[in-house]
Amino acid sequence: MNSKERLLKIKRRIDEIAIKSGRNPEEIKLLAVSKNHSLDKMQQVLAEGICDFGESRVQELQDKYSFSNKVAWHMIGHLQRNKVKYLVRMDRCELIHSLDSLRLAKKINKEARKEDRVMNLLVQVNVAEDSKKYGLFCEETFDFIKKIADFENLKVKGLMTIAPYVGDVEEVRPYFRRLRNLFERIKEAEIRGVEMEELSMGMSNDFEVAIEEGATIVRIGSGIFGAREYK
Ligand SMILES: *Cc1c(COP(=O)(O)O)cnc(C)c1O
Repeated sequence: MNSKERLLKIKRRIDEIAIKSGRNPEEIKLLAVSKNHSLDKMQQVLAEGICDFGESRVQELQDKYSFSNKVAWHMIGHLQRNKVKYLVRMDRCELIHSLDSLRLAKKINKEARKEDRVMNLLVQVNVAEDSKKYGLFCEETFDFIKKIADFENLKVKGLMTIAPYVGDVEEVRPYFRRLRNLFERIKEAEIRGVEMEELSMGMSNDFEVAIEEGATIVRIGSGIFGAREYK
């Protein structure tokens, strides 16, 4: 299969699962995670009407940025503070999924102010409390969001998580459910300046469960582009 065929298969699956779960498929955004993949493959996906692309590294995002002016870019990897200035200069950097500390929030706010823009952010939550992963713990997240809610050049749009990689995907369901509950709780609190709209969860191996549990953005890499090639 090529990227186009794999993409069509994934899109069909998303629609099926959404309908089966009583959701509108249009509520679910497919983010094509293009890290370590060529512009050639990305072109096949863009040609099918997918415009949201995700990258894990600022350098690679910069290298690919001018690929097409139709693309809305998403930063999904851990963000170092010294790279923030490059990111805020990219107009079509639509959403940062990986806000994981107060220091980073302050830095993004400061750099975004210089560019006179507001950056949209998701707070990354380490639901499984995996010591090898970035992100806040669930119980820290509410206070964290309250702390940054009035930063003028940031807009919190929701939450993101990376589930543990497990053999049986059913094992990740409780993590997705916990994130969804946290999301609803923060939303209900109606914190001024916070717009809880997006729940970014689910990757190639677990997006189906994530959709059943309420994901609004699924981040699919190998499921569309095939195995990543590391040089
Ligand atoms: C690489 C990556 C993905 C995509 O992973 P696949 O298993 O290839 O679908 C999604 N989210 C994040 C944060 C990633 O780093």
